[in-house]
Amino acid sequence: MIQKNPVLRMCISCRKTYDRKNLLKITNDPKLGIMFQKGMGRSAYICNSQECSTDSKIKKKLQKALKTSLDSELIDILEKKLQATIRIPIREYN
Ligand SMILES: [Zn+2]
Repeated sequence: MIQKNPVLRMCISCRKTYDRKNLLKITNDPKLGIMFQKGMGRSAYICNSQECSTDSKIKKKLQKALKTSLDSELIDILEKKLQATIRIPIREYN
């Protein structure tokens, strides 16, 4: 049986590594601006744990990771997206 290696990415909040499929991707697309789950360019990933979904420093961490400033409207959208994806803890890779 062939085992597929998952593509691993680090959550910018807890800095744990997860399968990319389980992370919310935020991309700073040079042409289109900030995008969720799509776009090209500098990206950051956030896992769906309760902790990270409610991280009060997420805006700062995200701005640092994407090297851009984010308006509060965008952070609102992000928080709603994160809260919508909270579920049982996903497998952790270390
Ligand atoms: Zn996390």
